Amino acid sequence: MLLSGTQRPTRSTIDLDNLAFNLGSVRQFIGGDLRYLAVVKADAYGHGAVECSRRLAAEGIDWFGVALPEEGYLLRQAGITEPILVLGSFWPGQENSVIELGLTPVIFSAEHASLLNAAARSSGVVANYHVKIDTGMGRIGVRFDEAHDLAGKLADFGNIRLDGLMTHFAVADDLGQNQFTHEQIKRFDYAAEAFRAKGFSPTYTDLANSPGAIAHPESRRNLVRLGGVLYGLGGDVLPREIPLPMLRPVMSLSTAIAHLKHVPAGETLGYGRTFRTERDSIIASIPVGYADGYPRSLSNAGRVIVNGLFAPIAGRVSMDWTILDVTDIPGVKNGDEVILIGRAENCAILAEEIAKHAGTISYEITCCIDARVDRRFTGVE
Ligand SMILES: *Cc1c(COP(=O)(O)O)cnc(C)c1O
Repeated sequence: MLLSGTQRPTRSTIDLDNLAFNLGSVRQFIGGDLRYLAVVKADAYGHGAVECSRRLAAEGIDWFGVALPEEGYLLRQAGITEPILVLGSFWPGQENSVIELGLTPVIFSAEHASLLNAAARSSGVVANYHVKIDTGMGRIGVRFDEAHDLAGKLADFGNIRLDGLMTHFAVADDLGQNQFTHEQIKRFDYAAEAFRAKGFSPTYTDLANSPGAIAHPESRRNLVRLGGVLYGLGGDVLPREIPLPMLRPVMSLSTAIAHLKHVPAGETLGYGRTFRTERDSIIASIPVGYADGYPRSLSNAGRVIVNGLFAPIAGRVSMDWTILDVTDIPGVKNGDEVILIGRAENCAILAEEIAKHAGTISYEITCCIDARVDRRFTGVE
């Protein structure tokens, strides 16, 4: 196709070798005899779920985690055969697909269990599911002090099998709140005991997300659910006070200068005229904006790398374009590469830096890179 979006130079590049490196690094750090689940929800945090999953499968990952059954469908279509945990359960009407695709849904109510059980029975199978316990996150999950009641109801279903018990941490990254994390672990064990008392013996117990797995060894049990660390996004979701595994960023984002001009001192640039040239300036337009997922909050605040040097963003980031002051970049010319996330020889911009300007975490930055941005992969096996 002539208009494929690959002509515009705005591009995310996903380094699958770094993805594999991060998995290896975390495995070495955690060690032990336990299973690893790679969380590839939201298109692998914006990194491309199919390609990342294929590489992680080649690296021997045990499980995948997605938020929605339809995300699991895409993985099955791509030939992924590992077990897939659907972290966000399913919506009524999706239970037959869940069974057909062999997805393992998270369940936290008898109503969902009943739907799954009926779908499994009509397919003539026994389907695995995991139960999510709410131990203090307050989001989805049966409350730990109501686990006993749910266990009683689940015991009635003949076509579904409890394969795992799980919970999710609220502050595993904040060592100052370790007491709360320890309380969550205690509540989880209390709920797990209620299930055992009803005769359940789940294969998996898993509590830990990335910060849990790194900072709270006692939470690792026999499965850890890793998202952020696999994508090298440790900088703003892991505690800084403890030793950490070495991680490499997986996503970089780049474009090229589309238009370069001389602008005399004293002129204003962009929507709202928020930038004024203090000197005779060289101004570059780059074809990236907030519709691409490049946050508008970088206006007059963010920076990029041009020819190995930092250049500041001038004025507002608009929907499709961003303006740079490249006056201090020697020899700058049209078509020069511009690194928005990534590294040059002597400087780097991490998703964490952009997140800080945007008042968020790096996960949101990579997740929000829009589908219209061309995506390339390196290290495809
Ligand atoms: C997203 C998610 C994870 C992964 O969290 P990271 O901080 O990215 O490791 C783990 N468990 C559940 C239930 C999740 O929703």
